Amino acid sequence: MSKLKLAKIKDNLIKERNLILKKLGGNDLSVDPNETPDPVDLAVRNYSKNVMLAVSEHESKNLTMIADAIERIEDDEYGLCKNCEDEINPKRLNAVPWAPYCINCQELQEKGLLDEN
Ligand SMILES: [Zn+2]
Repeated sequence: MSKLKLAKIKDNLIKERNLILKKLGGNDLSVDPNETPDPVDLAVRNYSKNVMLAVSEHESKNLTMIADAIERIEDDEYGLCKNCEDEINPKRLNAVPWAPYCINCQELQEKGLLDEN
């Protein structure tokens, strides 16, 4: 992969990372302790809080993967599967720039059959 393309990917990854960080930091759904909301209101808030937590979990996983991808660009290992070291399909990288595995290894990983280090 060309240096120019890698620089562009890195740029996008950093942008994506900042976007997630902003999203995570900008949502404070905590209830004001001086306030006594009615139960329905409270239930709705707790619900959205749980949804937010689930989102945060997803986002923080993405953050880890993005950081990892940036590191691999710096180490000149970007675009190679972390497991079998085959080239990851460029189409796949276009869709998921932080994909750490080729499609085969990704499948193994999702089934829990991959030894992750
Ligand atoms: Zn692989």
